[in-house]
Amino acid sequence: MQFENTYSNLPEHFFRRTRPVSVANPTLICCNHKLIEELNLKLDLTEPEKVAKIFSGNIILDGSDPIALAYAGHQFGNFVPQLGDGRAVLLGEVLDANNARWDIQLKGSGPTLFSRNGDGRAALGPVIREYILSESMHALGVATSRSLAAVTTGENVFRETVEPGAILTRVASSHIRVGTFQYYLAKNDFNAIKLLADYAINRLYPDARKAKNPYLELLRQICDRQASLIASWMHLGFIHGVMNTDNMAISGETIDYGPCAFLDNYNPDAVFSSIDSMGRYAFGNQAKIAQWNLARLAECILPLLHPDEKKAIALATDIIETFDGVYDDYYLGGMRRKFGFLSNKPKDKSIIDELLDLMQRFGVDYTLVMRGLCSAVKTSSDITELSDKFSNAIEFEDWVRRWRDRLQLGSIDPNEIIRSMKSINPVFIPRNHLIENVIQSAVGDNDFKLFQDLLLALSNPFEDNKDFMSFKLPPKSNEIVHQTYCGT
Ligand code: AMP
Ligand code: MG
Repeated sequence: MQFENTYSNLPEHFFRRTRPVSVANPTLICCNHKLIEELNLKLDLTEPEKVAKIFSGNIILDGSDPIALAYAGHQFGNFVPQLGDGRAVLLGEVLDANNARWDIQLKGSGPTLFSRNGDGRAALGPVIREYILSESMHALGVATSRSLAAVTTGENVFRETVEPGAILTRVASSHIRVGTFQYYLAKNDFNAIKLLADYAINRLYPDARKAKNPYLELLRQICDRQASLIASWMHLGFIHGVMNTDNMAISGETIDYGPCAFLDNYNPDAVFSSIDSMGRYAFGNQAKIAQWNLARLAECILPLLHPDEKKAIALATDIIETFDGVYDDYYLGGMRRKFGFLSNKPKDKSIIDELLDLMQRFGVDYTLVMRGLCSAVKTSSDITELSDKFSNAIEFEDWVRRWRDRLQLGSIDPNEIIRSMKSINPVFIPRNHLIENVIQSAVGDNDFKLFQDLLLALSNPFEDNKDFMSFKLPPKSNEIVHQTYCGT
């Protein structure tokens, strides 16, 4: 790998130089051949032992300048002035064939100066969870960090029980978080904030440089990408679970997969994370929380927006307040496509909301119903299997009549609608109970076959694949996962 190190060329207080701590017996679970190709990495994969050493930090390749990044963050609303990478190390950056720059980071590679009392390690379960989730989200079309490799370490880590240790290699267009800006606000270090904002513009938002007020434009574009990101989560039923400001990347990628989950039954109040007892990060709260986090970012860059603080606040407030509208447009745009509406009509929102309401009231599986609708477009199609899922089938069938009216089947080819709907309503999502099964067989039996099968099914989520019928189904009542854990 040809590393470049633009972040470690920033001033020393942006990070701490940190060598990954070697592990006893690194063994490759898997590496992501497609991503290796996309990133144009010249890795010799013929020697898995050597690859495992690279992706565990036992070998540091020439050109890598490993660092742990400094950041702060609001955790569940409480400000913590110093968090930082406590169990992650950035090996460096690589450029792909299009000259796009990517961070290559090890997660679980040993203590850093930010570890506080943590061990800097990761357990196999959470590594598997993040690998599957991030690759599935990518295949579903969501902006996300990627997973390049996973290895077991041959060492144990101590959590609630003793668990096998593992290391994930993560790829993202950068790891700058809202909390990275907050780290310097807490220190009143506005030179650092300006440096960071300039770095972010150069690396992630180069267009902003052309605007009259580049920093205001930076804020606007970050808000836009975040609105689009949260909308895509809502379209799929994804709950991040810990939207602390340190877990929000300003690139607009989903990062830090911890106690995240996918909805089975549609429910805006759904909370899975064991640590979210107040439901701050409930499914239906995610847009509001993103906006709150963005307001924290805006606070950090106020002096860059205008020398007069009052004017700076007015400019920032304007942008933060437009978030709602921007988000609504992304959300409704995507939902229209999911429902097969190929044009915009004023009553679309109410038709969409009526079905979501029915799903919530009757406790119906979101992904299954949305995919099922693709086969219910034509008036001749049999919808009994679908309506049987609603304990009041009459209400659902009545809704279907109104929905079909709206589809304007007289003037639009139903096959075109079906094609479009099938390209956006997935068959396969990383359901919580499937992930649990994969983790159990990997951790309990050292068996990674189910992991590989699930990854394969999820890599093509919009295509019905008869080989993986069981992965389509919602959990049976004894399989339902009610709580997820961050496992840190
Ligand atoms: P997270 O819950 O992953 O967003 O992490 C919150 C903070 O705790 C970050 O600063 C992490 O680096 C740190 N952290 C999480 N797990 C560990 C660990 N095992 N050892 C040291 N620090 C950790
Ligand atoms: Mg985090």
